[in-house]
Amino acid sequence: MNSTNDESNMLSLLTSEEGKQELYLYSLKKMAEQNAELERYSLTNLYGLNAFFFKANELLLHNTSQQYALIRMDLYRFKTVNEFCGRKVGDEFLAHIADCFREYEAATSLVGHLRADIFVLLLPYIHNDHIIEVVTNLYNKIIEYPLSCKVLPSFGICISKEGLTISLMNDYANLALQKIKGRVFTYYSFFDDSLHQQLMHEKKIENEILEAIKSRYLEVYIQPKVNMKTEEIIGGEALLRWNHPEHGILSPIHYIPVLEESGYIIEVDIYVWREVFQTLHNWINAGHKVVPISLNVSRLHEHQEDFEEVLCKLSQEYQVAPSLIKLEITESALSQSSNKLFDSMKNLKEYGFQFSMDDFGSGYSSLNMLKDEPLDEVKIDRLFLKDIEKNKSKTVIKHILAMLTELSIDTIAEGVETKEQADFLMECGCNIGQGYYYYKPMPIHEFEKLL
Ligand code: C2E
Ligand code: CA
Ligand code: CA
Repeated sequence: MNSTNDESNMLSLLTSEEGKQELYLYSLKKMAEQNAELERYSLTNLYGLNAFFFKANELLLHNTSQQYALIRMDLYRFKTVNEFCGRKVGDEFLAHIADCFREYEAATSLVGHLRADIFVLLLPYIHNDHIIEVVTNLYNKIIEYPLSCKVLPSFGICISKEGLTISLMNDYANLALQKIKGRVFTYYSFFDDSLHQQLMHEKKIENEILEAIKSRYLEVYIQPKVNMKTEEIIGGEALLRWNHPEHGILSPIHYIPVLEESGYIIEVDIYVWREVFQTLHNWINAGHKVVPISLNVSRLHEHQEDFEEVLCKLSQEYQVAPSLIKLEITESALSQSSNKLFDSMKNLKEYGFQFSMDDFGSGYSSLNMLKDEPLDEVKIDRLFLKDIEKNKSKTVIKHILAMLTELSIDTIAEGVETKEQADFLMECGCNIGQGYYYYKPMPIHEFEKLL
């Protein structure tokens, strides 16, 4: 683009499609110029980020009839090379990778070095097998390099389509890559329709969730916990329901993982907690019968600075004794968490809150945790009850329950669906249950009536 100041010229650039493209290229070029040191990565002499994007866009725009594949490579555990083998070895290794990629440099293709351990290759797309051959060749050459620590290259691939800029292709290739990063036997992944659908689904949930909180589409249900001997309700568990204006009631398994990935689960959980504190406050004030309520605590709260503070403040604000709240943390979250979470648990326990280990037995059980952690209750996962007709399953449950009793930890079985299951659990000394055999999760006002 000539730097003309002609206003009408400028206007046509801003409004026409080609004009926008031209401006886009111009701004990329300016960026590449301004970051002169980025234009070539000094260590490998490959195009840096801006220069690569600029050149790649030119290639795409000048060859619109040709499809391209963008291959993005990232190394899992590259940091350990620098740490354990030294900076020099790390640099030599990167130079080796650059040489492997350079083999594919041609008039119709482009290689870039975006960041320390991130390389990209844009080449004409013929078919998937060809791309797989390319990444396999790169993979083999990279892992053959003699290093005293193991690194794993992963490749994410995005095929060009109309309307996709190089920057989007790079994002998509990265998404495909993140799905497999660190896996030992899978080293490449294509960004395809299913990943795209999943991405759209996740984006939609992220976009809608804050509005759902504001418009009160999120509702708290409670599932009663029952003394199976007397069938009396001794507590409840708060479970989230999303009353979606288009899709109706949505089950949490569809969106909790998305909310955990984006971090929104913190806000959503606190919303649920507040509703429960408010409910307990109302019951107390109205002179209602009050039972303890369990709250689900996502593993992400470990990173929440004011985790303890929020719970203590809610207890003060609503004048609800913390002993009326049981915090459920899953076994898998506990087994992955740091001392920080355990410290918070100890503090909160001292303050009066109770703790339950959720989904016990569903993941890698760390029996060791049972003796060290501040737990009041263990919730036996419903998977244990699934094939209770089998003698071996019975033996497992019986002994787990015996062990927990000896450790003076309360037990509750979840997913109790039949009378046989309830009878067997009681035989083994577990008298508290939660499941469809007794009650399904229900809106708070229905739970209130039951009490
Ligand atoms: P969870 O904490 O293990 O909750 C128990 C799940 O089992 C609930 O599913 C409940 O409806 C279901 N369930 C109860 N009785 C039975 C039964 O007899 N048979 C069967 N097949 N299922 C039964 P739900 O409500 O769909 O929740 C799924 C998961 O979503 C929960 O598992 C929990 O991990 C998570 N979740 C729900 N609400 C929240 C929340 O407010 N915050 C967080 N962080 N997670 C939540
Ligand atoms: Ca739970
Ligand atoms: Ca559970």
